[in-house]
Amino acid sequence: MVIPTACDDMTKEALESEADRLDRTDAILVMSCGFGVQTVAGSCDNPVYPALDTLFIGMEGAPGHFSEKCAQCGECVLAWTGGICPVICCTKGLLNGPCGGTNNGKCEVDPEKDCAWTLIYQRLERLGKLDSMRAYRPPKNFQAVVRPGKVVVD
Ligand code: SF4
Ligand code: SF4
Repeated sequence: MVIPTACDDMTKEALESEADRLDRTDAILVMSCGFGVQTVAGSCDNPVYPALDTLFIGMEGAPGHFSEKCAQCGECVLAWTGGICPVICCTKGLLNGPCGGTNNGKCEVDPEKDCAWTLIYQRLERLGKLDSMRAYRPPKNFQAVVRPGKVVVD
């Protein structure tokens, strides 16, 4: 069964329209991210199994190339980092980079990968905002987001 978007409310409607078949179904294998799997599980009484291991919620660049952009950390620092997220792009998630291992613009953990803090430096330089590099950022407050996250907007 192909549903429009697995994490959408329409999933429940789509499953209800197949109620007869679901009654005769031993299990449902869901090929989506974990969000979609949970939506399907919450929309029927059948055993539901994930077919995939979700690594992150990201965006697609070139076809088939996905990259994570935001970890929803609850304390966004993009205003001081030229719009480049160090939580995601720096291998160590450093808020005050670069670390001592940065090497000619590459990351010490993965030499194939650009050092996020070099990219941030270059971007801030172009913006004329290098003073942001010198400002100390306090440690991340991991209590900023209580899991599971829940927001009510009136
Ligand atoms: S700092 Fe990075 S992970 Fe945190 S909210 Fe901003 S973009 Fe997302
Ligand atoms: S080399 Fe750069 S990207 Fe790699 S861990 Fe250090 S600061 Fe982060």
